[in-house]
Amino acid sequence: MKYDLVIVGAGPSGIFTALELNRENPNKKIMIIEQGKAIEKRNCPKDITKKCISCQPYCNITTGFAGAGAFSDGKLSLSPEVGGDLPELIGYDFTQQMIEYTDSIYLEFGADSRVEGVEAKEEIKEIRRKAIEAGLKLVDCPIRHLGTEKAQEIYKKIEKYIIDKGVEIKFNTEAADILVEDGRIKGVVVTDSSKKNISEEIYADTVVISAGRKGADWLKSICVKHNIAHRAGTVDIGVRVEVRNEVMERVNNILYESKLIGYPRPFRDKVRTFCQNPGGYVSQENYDNNLAVVNGHSYKDRKTNNTNLAILSSHNFRYPFNEPIKYGAKVAELLNMLGDGKILVQRYGDILDGKRTWDHELSRSNVKPTLPDAVAGDITSALPYRTMTNILNFIEALNVVVPGFAGTETLLYAPEVKFYSNKVELSAEFETNIKNLYCLGDASGWTRGLMMSSLMGVRMGQILGEKDSNTLL
Ligand SMILES: Cc1cc2nc3c(=O)[nH]c(=O)nc-3n(C[C@H](O)[C@H](O)[C@H](O)COP(=O)(O)OP(=O)(O)OC[C@H]3O[C@@H](n4cnc5c(N)ncnc54)[C@H](O)[C@@H]3O)c2cc1C
Repeated sequence: MKYDLVIVGAGPSGIFTALELNRENPNKKIMIIEQGKAIEKRNCPKDITKKCISCQPYCNITTGFAGAGAFSDGKLSLSPEVGGDLPELIGYDFTQQMIEYTDSIYLEFGADSRVEGVEAKEEIKEIRRKAIEAGLKLVDCPIRHLGTEKAQEIYKKIEKYIIDKGVEIKFNTEAADILVEDGRIKGVVVTDSSKKNISEEIYADTVVISAGRKGADWLKSICVKHNIAHRAGTVDIGVRVEVRNEVMERVNNILYESKLIGYPRPFRDKVRTFCQNPGGYVSQENYDNNLAVVNGHSYKDRKTNNTNLAILSSHNFRYPFNEPIKYGAKVAELLNMLGDGKILVQRYGDILDGKRTWDHELSRSNVKPTLPDAVAGDITSALPYRTMTNILNFIEALNVVVPGFAGTETLLYAPEVKFYSNKVELSAEFETNIKNLYCLGDASGWTRGLMMSSLMGVRMGQILGEKDSNTLL
């Protein structure tokens, strides 16, 4: 089997590469390798079972067509300042231009035309004034909210579109290794996701790895094995916070998502809010080795009484330790151990009182957890002192912007860990130091959100198309 292009991972970055390259050059023979299922076959059994049954071989929330995007809240952040470090690679203004172009593709496939966080200028000024008073920075970021159910519809249309255009997708198939000869990519070695004992080689002139956060660990091992230049980055560790909608109402209505950044005392690490879900659900995603990690999303129409958002603290390491993914996984493991494999939840007031939370205390609270199988307990016994201190001080500052945020009943779920720390060294064309091997999206360490990963995919398609026409000339 020989292809012009093999893409590893059918997340937003991978599928937009295929879509855009196909538009540039419909004759290209493209194959996508995806360890999960087609989007119409993906479902999280938790809707019925009410608790996570750890789907095997992979979690349906993070694997399959559209990757982590399919069950995401579908918030497209329309600012170069949010969602990763791409502007460092391709320039700020060009990133803005590409955001607009990528956004137009989402609109073409049916995204809501409404953009949040741009209208109420005076009210935004007032929120910014409060943020400054609290020592926080409010980042300007218009948001297009797809909603979980609409995001799935859009990705379903994209799946049909690219298949109809001749892009081949091999589902339930996992890239195990890459084939390199004389510093040039030759293809990939794949295995069957469920059996893992049949391997075959697929040859290609060009390979794009877009394996997402889920594949970050695998990609790191590939980098080490094949001497692909990479460096340790940061790991973000924190909690998912849940409060009643009444507390967040003002910010929800004006901004939909408040992107706030602070550097609280005494460590001055970067701490930020992330992925706010008005009327949303706290959710669980499972990584390999059965690591249970908390996340959140919201539907366009099905709303709860609560708003959730993540508070993440960035951790950087220097000599002699440089394995941030391992560090994040160890912290998550410890929290999972205390929660008997489940997500732990604790009330803010209990943390301040130095006690664990009990089930009966949760049941009499105003804030009812939207993750029903989270286990009441003590997250302070597992989160590192530095992380915990950063989070508590940040919550105190946020209380100035959103009065009531630091309420006794505010829920903190853990672990929320973002495994995007291994940063692959890339050219401005996203090429690694192996000829014709490219790396994209969250796995590359350069993006951490839907818009930026999609954009990187769109740009990849253009680059490969341009390269092609240059070769022809
Ligand atoms: C619950 C949830 C809510 C979110 N909400 C938002 C949001 O509202 N806004 C936002 O901006 N971002 C959100 N995100 C993050 C966003 O979904 C990701 O940033 C985005 O999907 C990254 O795209 P990607 O293409 O880089 O990787 P992914 O979407 O992670 O896709 C990678 C794909 O590669 C596959 N894969 C991995 N390894 C291999 C292998 N070895 N062989 C074959 N296939 C492999 C995986 O199965 C997966 O399908 C959310 C994420 C989650 C989980």
